[in-house]
Amino acid sequence: MRAADSTVYDAAIVGAGPGGLTAAMYCARAGLRCVIVEMLSPGGQLAQTEHLENYPGFNQSTSGYELSEIMSDQATSFGAEVVYDQVVSVDFEACPKVLRLTEGLMLAKTVIVASGARPAKLGVPGEEEFAGAGVSYCATCDGNFFKGKDVCVVGGGDTAAADAIYLSRICDTVTVFVRRDVLRATAIYNTKLRELDNVRIVWNTIVESIEGDDGAVVGVSVRNVQTGETAKVPVSACFIAVGTVPNTEFLDGALELGQTGRIVTNSVGETSVPGVYAVGDVRMKSLYQVTTAVADGANAAEDAAEYLIQHE
Ligand code: NAP
Repeated sequence: MRAADSTVYDAAIVGAGPGGLTAAMYCARAGLRCVIVEMLSPGGQLAQTEHLENYPGFNQSTSGYELSEIMSDQATSFGAEVVYDQVVSVDFEACPKVLRLTEGLMLAKTVIVASGARPAKLGVPGEEEFAGAGVSYCATCDGNFFKGKDVCVVGGGDTAAADAIYLSRICDTVTVFVRRDVLRATAIYNTKLRELDNVRIVWNTIVESIEGDDGAVVGVSVRNVQTGETAKVPVSACFIAVGTVPNTEFLDGALELGQTGRIVTNSVGETSVPGVYAVGDVRMKSLYQVTTAVADGANAAEDAAEYLIQHE
């Protein structure tokens, strides 16, 4: 229970994904008393990534989960504290700034919002009903339940492509439904996907509903957006990878958001409120990668340290 805890942290970091953990490491090394508030375990979306090919210094043998653990250990080894709780609301007008947790309050002179993003919903019939019974947003978490089965992936971005590649090693067949006639995913994924014998890409096609029987997914109904042709495709699971939604609900208008619902910042991560920063997938920027999240974390932490010098 943190209520009545009078500690005023130099920096409170909301979220322990790569951006938050890097911010914590930089804050701690700069001599700031800092704390990370994390709901679950460290890593965020990174922890659910099979392998990172594009994080310098790490190769296919390091999983996203392992890298998350390393980042977390590194941050805490320099003195960053961790509190496992959820931030439910904030008061950034107060001095010090206030984070309301499910168990009490946390006070801090600066705040770094690193709350990341979660998978977007497709919004079709059957999606809610069969969530956890064949509808999944995490191939690395749920893929093994469908060993040797026919499954589908919805989406054409990096996540969909990585999911399809991962599932191709576990499942009998993987059908990827892409709503346009091109993938948004990086070129290397395009090449890899096309090389896999058990992966079929169905272009210009959207999933209109997910069907189930006896509490489990048995297929999807799809429609070709160019011809209007419809079909029912039997699958045991539908992995949805149609983008992400930023985790900003707890801010409730405290920070300026852009059109995409992500937090507006300057190049060092400063938000519309002085002393409050945003890093990683929750902020508006052009490239959403682990590399850019860690860079965001470093920039924001350094600027927060400078802010404290100027305001104390
Ligand atoms: P994304 O890049 O936004 O791609 C979303 C995909 O879903 C697009 O193909 C989009 O189609 C499609 N889509 C959106 N709504 C749809 C709908 N209602 N029905 C059917 N398809 C729909 O999202 P993401 O793949 O989750 O990636 C998010 C960010 O993380 C990206 O910046 C990505 O580069 C990054 N990421 C990187 C890696 C990596 O580097 N290894 C891995 C995973 C993610 P349109 O193209 O037509 O919009």
